[in-house]
Amino acid sequence: MDGGKKVWVPHAHDGFKLGRIVDIGSDDITIEPFDAPGTAIHSVYDRTFPAEEYDNKDVDDNCGLMYLNEATLLHNLRIRYLKNQIYTYTANILIAVNPYFEMPDLYATQTVKKYNGKSLGTMPPHVFAIADKAYRDMKVTKHSQSVIVSGESGAGKTESTKYILKYLTESWGTGSSNIEQRILESNPLLEAFGNAKTVRNNNSSRFGKFIEIHFDGKCYVNGGFISHYLLEKSRVCTQSKEERNYHIFYRLCAGAPDQLRQKLSLAPPDKFRYLMRGCTQYFCNRQTDKQLAADRKSQQYLKDGSLHDPKLDDMNDFKTCDLAMTHLGISDEDKLSIYTLVAAVLHLGNLEFEENVDDAKGGCKINGPSEKTLGICSGLLSLDKEELRESLITRVMQTSKGGSKGTLIKVPLKIGEASSARDALAKTIYSKLFDYIVSRVNQAIPFSQSMSFIGLLDIAGFEYFQVNSFEQFCINYCNEKLQQFFNTRILKEEQDLYEKEGLGVKKIQWTDNQDCIELIENKKMGIFDLLDEESKLPAPKYDHFTMEVHNRNKNHFRLSLPRKSKLKSHRDVRDEEGFLIRHFAGAVVYHTNQFLDKNNDALHASLHFLIQDSNNTLLKKMFEGTQVSTGKLNFISVGSKFRSQLVILMEKLKATEDVTLLRTPTLLVKGTNFIRCIKPNLKMVDHLFEGGQILSQLECAGMNAVLDLMQQGYPSRTQFLELYNMYKKFMPSDLIRLDPRLFCKALFKALGLDDNDFKFGLTKVFFRPGKFAEFDQIMKSD
Ligand code: ATP
Ligand code: MG
Repeated sequence: MDGGKKVWVPHAHDGFKLGRIVDIGSDDITIEPFDAPGTAIHSVYDRTFPAEEYDNKDVDDNCGLMYLNEATLLHNLRIRYLKNQIYTYTANILIAVNPYFEMPDLYATQTVKKYNGKSLGTMPPHVFAIADKAYRDMKVTKHSQSVIVSGESGAGKTESTKYILKYLTESWGTGSSNIEQRILESNPLLEAFGNAKTVRNNNSSRFGKFIEIHFDGKCYVNGGFISHYLLEKSRVCTQSKEERNYHIFYRLCAGAPDQLRQKLSLAPPDKFRYLMRGCTQYFCNRQTDKQLAADRKSQQYLKDGSLHDPKLDDMNDFKTCDLAMTHLGISDEDKLSIYTLVAAVLHLGNLEFEENVDDAKGGCKINGPSEKTLGICSGLLSLDKEELRESLITRVMQTSKGGSKGTLIKVPLKIGEASSARDALAKTIYSKLFDYIVSRVNQAIPFSQSMSFIGLLDIAGFEYFQVNSFEQFCINYCNEKLQQFFNTRILKEEQDLYEKEGLGVKKIQWTDNQDCIELIENKKMGIFDLLDEESKLPAPKYDHFTMEVHNRNKNHFRLSLPRKSKLKSHRDVRDEEGFLIRHFAGAVVYHTNQFLDKNNDALHASLHFLIQDSNNTLLKKMFEGTQVSTGKLNFISVGSKFRSQLVILMEKLKATEDVTLLRTPTLLVKGTNFIRCIKPNLKMVDHLFEGGQILSQLECAGMNAVLDLMQQGYPSRTQFLELYNMYKKFMPSDLIRLDPRLFCKALFKALGLDDNDFKFGLTKVFFRPGKFAEFDQIMKSD
């Protein structure tokens, strides 16, 4: 790096700051930032990056940058975003920055038409271009394709997925059936039951999904199939501050017609405990009953952001969701069954227990004010009131005598245990209801004689919060797997491109994250297996599990104790501590105290038996075929289920030879496209680019790994014609007459460029890192 040169140096808020080198030391570089003349910033060498010559020139594809590095990539995104150009490529990867304002023209039907049949790069970057590429590749290869959309909460994954769906169904729907309409209608329905307001996103998807759009032999849309992953069950009973439960609860309360409202004993949301957990103000500072009644009457609850969001129109959204159900062929009777279960969950939350002073064993009973609620619950669930009462306050156990099974006995539950049983029942009903909704959607979009499909994956990206629990552990594990897949694919695409262009470049090396995946999923020693093992012990303990994880994986590079822990025995593991994992995107500390609970999907036996006896047909159907155990071991592993789902997903994505696990074995996915969504700021507002936090999102999206990988090859590249147009004004006329490729060859030869610094492909010149810029400088200084 030369003195006086323009460079980018790290900056906490902006990501990088631009300045000029004023001193080059042995350990660091001193620069004078352009926006604060006379001041100095010191920066280490490997975080100081050369800058492009023109600060305001942007390129559609980051590979067109003369210096491709973290800083120039971020800057290119910034200048494009500020010009409302939210999409940018890095080779074939699309980076999409959430604009946080409506851009109707960008997604209009005329725009859809403009992208039909156009190769990537011939039109401005767009999700439509990616959708079109997937479609064209599918048509040519007759093999399924996929698009993986990732990014943090609020980055725009679901919206991008919806635009791709729109593009595919508008362009290649048959028009004769309403199948494409139904595919689109599945969104409002799934969002009603699976999305919620969080502090990060007013419409946050609390589940992952893989949507397959199936095409017939003529490549017209003929159906679809949705797989879903990891619905956040805990939200049904508790929400963090300022957050809400699933939309459907509020929508039902706000929008149900009078008759339905009465039938389901609905009330405003502030009457239900399961909807009150995110309240921070007003209602949580409980007033007198009289005040509360007055507030209800004047709809004061509308003032609390966790109960009512001014940006969300619950009443109208209820109508939309109800209509979507009609369009998906869900009858009025089935709708009523669905709403009944939603209401049942709400009422269950209002059941309260108190100590039963008459019970010598310290059991509990349903308290007086909850008696009416118990009646409502049993009515909605079509259960006998007394049996429901009994199942909530006792647990059925099987005694064992000398190894053989003994008699069934009832064990009374303490208040806390009964409350957990009630919550477990509510969570299980809701998550099974969600499974049922997805299955109804799938029934409504059946595909026959599918030739191939385009799969769209919309799943949460890498997550790390102040407190990380089992949910983050699962999602980050999933992201490790996707990252490995991403690296392999991008590497392959780079190498394929080099081959196609005839560069004759040797293989590129890269760091694999297989060791991290193994730490989590290995048989016996892996974290998932250790967790399941612990759950099967007579008295499972989270701190013992944590200890086992550390003991069985001593000196594993990816695993550490969280910094604060002083672990001598498992008793030293404090509540808030567990383990630290070094993920590809950074280290995350997981708090393990709720891992055992969250990993267990089993309902206790008395409740399970009870539900199987219900007269509510839907409820009964939802629980059909689920295992029930009366022994000590009452355990269904959430982690194992997720792992097997991921195996199927990865098999589909990788299209390996082993097709036994595939539901549709003939439909192999041969091509994958990646969309990396970026949230521009934490305030969720338009035209605000917070470079610092965008930079960490790019890292989580694996973009640094991509840049590293590219640095080993030829990251900057440009069409011959483009180069010709850029430099012809500097050239004598006999050279200008040459065709662009020959022009470039002659030019490079005349300048005596080092052959190792560039390669001529069939359509483009490829440069080693930084060499495009050097060449540009020679041209301009000559
Ligand atoms: P989560 O992981 O929480 O589900 P997400 O990545 O799916 O988040 P979205 O729900 O797609 O995020 O987007 C969040 C919000 O950002 C949207 O509700 C919308 O307001 C806005 N948004 C996203 N993409 C666009 C876009 N292309 N144009 C306009 N607004 C957008
Ligand atoms: Mg989403």
